[in-house]
Amino acid sequence: MTENTNNNQEPEKLPDRNSKPRFNTNWIFAILAGSLILFSLFSGGKTVEKATTSQIKVMIANRDIEKVSVVNKDYAEIYLKKVALESGRYAKQTKPGIGFGMSLPKANFTYNIGDISSFEPFILEAQKSEGYTEKELIYPDYITRKNYIGDALSWLLFPALLVILWLFLMKRMSGGGAGGAGIFSVGKSRAQIFDKDTNVKLNFNDVAGLEEAKTEVMEIVDFLKNPKKYTQLGGKIPKGALLIGPPGTGKTMLAKAVAGEANVPFFSISGSDFVEMFVGVGASRVRDLFKQAKEKAPCIVFIDEIDAVGRARGRNANFGSNDERENTLNQLLTEMDGFGTNMGVIILAATNRADILDRALMRAGRFDRQIHVELPDIIEREAIFKVHLRPIKIEKDFDIGFMAKQTPGFSGADIANVCNESALIAARKNKIVVEKQDFLDAIDRIVGGLERKTKIISPVEKKTIAYHEAGHATVSWHLEHASPLLKVTIIPRGRALGAAWYLPEERQLTTREQILDELAYALGGRASEELIFGKISTGALNDLEKITKQAYAMVSFFGMSEKVGNISFYDSSGQSDFGFTKPYSEKTAELIDQEVNLIIAESYVRAKEVLKNNMKGLAELAELLLEKEVIFSEDLERIFGKRKAEVLKEEREAEAKTKLKVMKKSKTQA
Ligand code: ADP
Ligand code: ZN
Repeated sequence: MTENTNNNQEPEKLPDRNSKPRFNTNWIFAILAGSLILFSLFSGGKTVEKATTSQIKVMIANRDIEKVSVVNKDYAEIYLKKVALESGRYAKQTKPGIGFGMSLPKANFTYNIGDISSFEPFILEAQKSEGYTEKELIYPDYITRKNYIGDALSWLLFPALLVILWLFLMKRMSGGGAGGAGIFSVGKSRAQIFDKDTNVKLNFNDVAGLEEAKTEVMEIVDFLKNPKKYTQLGGKIPKGALLIGPPGTGKTMLAKAVAGEANVPFFSISGSDFVEMFVGVGASRVRDLFKQAKEKAPCIVFIDEIDAVGRARGRNANFGSNDERENTLNQLLTEMDGFGTNMGVIILAATNRADILDRALMRAGRFDRQIHVELPDIIEREAIFKVHLRPIKIEKDFDIGFMAKQTPGFSGADIANVCNESALIAARKNKIVVEKQDFLDAIDRIVGGLERKTKIISPVEKKTIAYHEAGHATVSWHLEHASPLLKVTIIPRGRALGAAWYLPEERQLTTREQILDELAYALGGRASEELIFGKISTGALNDLEKITKQAYAMVSFFGMSEKVGNISFYDSSGQSDFGFTKPYSEKTAELIDQEVNLIIAESYVRAKEVLKNNMKGLAELAELLLEKEVIFSEDLERIFGKRKAEVLKEEREAEAKTKLKVMKKSKTQA
């Protein structure tokens, strides 16, 4: 959730990089290779050439053998006479084998004796058959030789390997851990701490908009700075505040700014950091976090995405694996109860799912303040643009207000992303300043995904797509409550093959008429396909998905169907699971389905009506699209004349004017 786009607060962690070499995988391989080499050296001695039975027989025939020793009842070492070696018959054996001076034999050959009981008879027989006299006969001697270091090593090697492997696995599992301590820090909190040394230079100026939220948290800063002021009147300082809002709206930023303003240390941790595969780790991390915080008080602890641990307990109990999370949550509750109100630790937490949080967390004395952070409106977006445009070289007379207008529904993080992306796009085109068009491209890219000009689309498909999109555009152009159209494209982008881009109005309420118009122009694509080609395609999937949800919401949430009535099955508390049991009867369910079908069928008819009345314009539009791939609202105005909404607006204004005139006239007459 924390997308550091340009506020470069690289969290600490860097310092320990140069303190001590960290344990890493390469070490393991080095150790492994080293021990293997050592092992083979010490347990060596068998590097001497092996003799075959026939070679032995030749040696005996030449009377070259000086001595035969059977080692460890395992193999025989054959020592040759000096003369034999000098004779050149055994060229390779003139040098002694490599070795580290330890018990390495100076033998010239070794021989695998196989069965020990048959070796001596074999040797003696061979000699006798060569006519050795009784005195000349060489009897093998038997020795045991211990290779202590080699044995020790081979004993140690295996356990050592196991330990290394284990360390390696633990390392992987604990994901790097904080500080070089590796696995030994599993139970430690993973909070990043920002204090004077790591200078968080974030303050309220960097957070644009969010005025109400700022005033709320400003008070928290004041609590930390002069607690006396509040406690002397008998009040208690709140222990925590919960920041609630969609992702990317600046909750983390706000918390950091609080720390920056109050000039106190700031612990930042994500809820998911508590959750680990080991049982009990989460709870111990919570304990550790609070211990550290108390040592550093006054300070602020920020828990991002608290829903990862703070989810209501006891739900979905049938899945069983939630014990660890519950323990963590319980520990969190205990810790929050455990410290006094004037200890100077204030806990901020952020979530975008306040509805699923455990009630116990919201109880007074814990997160008793809830600060709502909403998506920015047009004025706030302008302010956010101003913040993020600071580092960017923009063209002269750049209209920030226009950008704010083009980005309804964007979060602060999206806007930061637009600014960054536009700079990259401009750089790719080797520009020296970032221009308006780069911003528009960046917005398109963020909304729709990457352009995929290379996607292969057959001419027939292309024509279908063009008529589909032209259908959307035509219908929306002729409906009073439709959002203003920006442009229509048939360039594939992301997963979409084409798109009509609208500029949704900034509004808090939506009327029934507005939704019905939306349904109609969403069906305009399919209606156009049917009217023009007489067959429909899968291209309408997205549209159908959207309208189905909309229509069901109309009937079962917004009470917008007469038959079902002013009833809503919406559940804002999130406490009851409607998954399996519906809160209404079978009869109502059938009624809802009927009403939804009716609404959609009527909308489809409306869309087709509009298209039938504008067949010529539709064809013209589609052909233009095929030719240019992107067309703008000006092109539509040229084909169809002014938008219905604008025409009506002008009419109404004119009417009001004439009324005014009439009134004035009657006044003067009177
Ligand atoms: P959240 O925690 O709500 O998901 P963040 O605080 O991590 O969101 O915001 C992500 C990024 O979005 C920030 O780093 C910042 O660049 C940008 N941002 C979000 N809201 C604002 C705002 N009100 N003013 C300026 N920048 C913002
Ligand atoms: Zn469509």
